[in-house]
Amino acid sequence: MGWVSNDNEHEGWAAAVAPDGRPSASSSGEGILVQGITGRYQPDKMLPDYEVVPDREIIGWRGACDCGWRGELWERVPSPAAADFSRRRDYLSPDDVAHASNEVEDAIHDEWKAHLAPLEAVAGVEAAARDYSQAGERLDKTVAAAKAAGASWTDIGRAVGISRQSAHERWADRQ
Ligand SMILES: [Zn+2]
Repeated sequence: MGWVSNDNEHEGWAAAVAPDGRPSASSSGEGILVQGITGRYQPDKMLPDYEVVPDREIIGWRGACDCGWRGELWERVPSPAAADFSRRRDYLSPDDVAHASNEVEDAIHDEWKAHLAPLEAVAGVEAAARDYSQAGERLDKTVAAAKAAGASWTDIGRAVGISRQSAHERWADRQ
């Protein structure tokens, strides 16, 4: 289980959801493991910080990511007739292990990928801001060199695409 983003910053999964809303961290032969001890369920034998929720009690599934993101709930319904993919409802027999069906898991995977999209776009802004700052430093250096070589503020302003006055205001103090 689990999907990892290209930058390794995000690991997501299709979590089974306990009646109290807790998403699964893992599963065992006994049931679905959720983190935390509430006393409502048996603690897991291997992982004492986790409780075991019986498969039949799982109320649905939702995307989870270790960054804290949670997707919208896919509800588990009590009969096949009540299942409706377009309304995020799926049926699973009470006797089955309470993993999301392949169809729901694929949909949750898409939702998880969608939660990465704005973060990847922001990474693009970050890279551009770095380039922008470096270009600004290069501009300052070349202006200083031009001034030292005898260029006028009019010449420098024209080269930058701003007025003599603006060029003077921006760089005169740095000379
Ligand atoms: Zn994430």
